[in-house]
Amino acid sequence: MPNIRLDKYLANMGVGSRTAVKELIRKKQVTVNEVTAVSPEQKVDTERDRIFCQGEPIGFTEFEYLMLHKPAGVVSAVTDDRDRTVIDLIDARKRKDLFPVGRLDKDTEGLLLITNDGKLANQLLNPRKHVDKTYYARVRGAVTAAEQECFREGLDIGDDTLTKPAELEILSSGPESEILLTITEGRFHQVKRMFQAVGMEILYLKRLSMGPLRLDESLPAGAWRPLTVDEIRALH
Ligand code: URA
Repeated sequence: MPNIRLDKYLANMGVGSRTAVKELIRKKQVTVNEVTAVSPEQKVDTERDRIFCQGEPIGFTEFEYLMLHKPAGVVSAVTDDRDRTVIDLIDARKRKDLFPVGRLDKDTEGLLLITNDGKLANQLLNPRKHVDKTYYARVRGAVTAAEQECFREGLDIGDDTLTKPAELEILSSGPESEILLTITEGRFHQVKRMFQAVGMEILYLKRLSMGPLRLDESLPAGAWRPLTVDEIRALH
C-alpha cells in the first residue's frame, strides 16, 4: 500500500486528526520531496517519498548510514564521467543525497561510510579530531623495526609538516611484507606516500576501520549494509 492520500497518511502516522493535517497542508507546513504540498488529496508513495511536516521527517529516517566494502576499480565520488563510483554500487532505490565520507584511492579496498549526514561527515574528516584509520597493506620489501620507528616519529612526505605519529604493526616481514598501519590524519594518498618516503611500495591496500567503525568482514567487496543502531551511536 505505498500509494495513499497525503492527509490520510499523515493522520495514520499520528501527526494529527484529518482536519488538523489538512490545516497543516493549507498552511504550507508539509513538503513532499522538498516541494511544498498543496493538496491533502495528493497521492504519496510512502516507501519512496520524503515527507516532512514542520521540518520533521515523517515515516522515514532523515539520515542514512551505510557501510560499503569498497572494491578496487571504483572511485570515491558521487558521480564521475569515466569511472563507476561508490554511489553507483548502492541500490538505485536508495535516496539521491548520499555521499562517501572521505576518499579511498581507486585501487584501495575496504571500509567506506556512505551517508547523507554532512555534520557527522565533517566531524569524522575534521583534521583536529584525529580520527584513527587502520589499514592492512602488503608492501614490497622487508618492513622492520627501523620503519616502525620512522612512522612513529613522523615522516616528510613532501607536505609542509611531518606526518603525525602513526602505529605500524608488522604481521610478516620478507620480500613482501604484511602490515597494519593506524594513522590519525587523512592526507592525499597518505599511506602510499608514507611507504614511498621509506623507499617502499604498497602492493595492496585495504581500510579496516575508521574511528569506532570496523569493516564487517562478512561483507564481500562491492556489498554494503546499513549500520546497526550501536554502530551509529558509536560514531556520534
Ligand atoms: N592512503 C592511501 O595512500 N590511499 C588510500 O586510499 C587511503 C589512504
